Amino acid sequence: MDKTVLDASLEPLKGKTIAVIGYGNQGRVQANIMRENGLNVIIGNVKDRYYDLAIKEGFEVYDIGEAVKKADVAFLLIPDEIMKEIYEKKIAPILEGKKEFVLDFASGYNVAFGLIRPPKNVDTVMVAPRMVGEGIMDLHKQGKGYPVLLGVKQDASGKAWDYAKAIAKGIGAIPGGIAVISSFEEEALLDLMSEHTWVPILFGAIKACFDVAVKEYGVSPEAALLEFYASGELAEIARLIAEEGIFNQMVHHSTTSQYGTLTRMFKYYDLVKEIVKDEAKYIWDGSFAKEWTLEQQAGYPVFYRLWELAVQSEMAKAEKELYKILRRKVSE
Ligand code: NDP
Repeated sequence: MDKTVLDASLEPLKGKTIAVIGYGNQGRVQANIMRENGLNVIIGNVKDRYYDLAIKEGFEVYDIGEAVKKADVAFLLIPDEIMKEIYEKKIAPILEGKKEFVLDFASGYNVAFGLIRPPKNVDTVMVAPRMVGEGIMDLHKQGKGYPVLLGVKQDASGKAWDYAKAIAKGIGAIPGGIAVISSFEEEALLDLMSEHTWVPILFGAIKACFDVAVKEYGVSPEAALLEFYASGELAEIARLIAEEGIFNQMVHHSTTSQYGTLTRMFKYYDLVKEIVKDEAKYIWDGSFAKEWTLEQQAGYPVFYRLWELAVQSEMAKAEKELYKILRRKVSE
């Protein structure tokens, strides 16, 4: 099978009732784009602000179980950490009684690590956007698509891939963007690899740069923060990486900068690769999923302790002061 899909038929979803469960970041944009594309969408949500918002935006809104009962296809667009509980309490009992059903996920996590196991009669597909909800809506308004990863865990009907591709089209990813044939396991691995390696390594390096520059070299916190990220240069580099490629964009920087980046990238590569290999193994064999489940069951003690450490750091305090001066958003 070709690994990339640039367009698909909406036909598999036509005439079906699609229940979008959760009207948050993804649920809201996916539901609205599917409705624009002529699909029959209802919403399932707990009764609170998102429930009211979906009604205000003209959808039929039901309790989660009720919406799944009325539907042929359901999108599980609630936070990953509560998905298992909601699935087991409100969705699984209804799925048992369905002849044919399509269950769609926007992330691989719960299915990849065996936390959710849909019954045999259910096509279990993944259409995972590589884009936050707001970004999807902005691109959609400009008539553009966006990237998604597709996966099929269970093909009960023999048409699961057609459903996954149709969903990618229904939610506006294609045409205009790109759908890549992948799997729940690959999506979970890639997503967590970023979260466990280059993102924390980058944040840790920035924090270390701040601490060394300010405490050991007497640099002002303002100068350090503006250099390391507050000026927006980092965001501009990220944009250039996406548009031109990680190495091609280097030509926009000075020769001194290019030399420094290349020499240090190769100098630290083996060290970083060992960290990446360890983290990837820990993700792939399910150890991280176990760690995170235990943390949730214990009431998030490590999570809250580390948040406290982060917001109490010198860098976070200096950032708050600088952002007040710059009239940027400051959380209390
Ligand atoms: P949100 O945090 O925006 O989800 C909010 C929805 O979940 C709301 O409708 C909210 O309802 C509902 N919800 C929250 N808590 C509960 C609860 N205890 N019981 C029932 N409903 C609850 O989620 P996202 O849209 O960010 O994520 C949805 C899926 O999309 C996830 O699988 C995520 O990994 C994936 N994804 C998300 C991306 C993003 O843009 N954030 C990008 C790509 C994939 P209410 O607040 O009314 O309770």
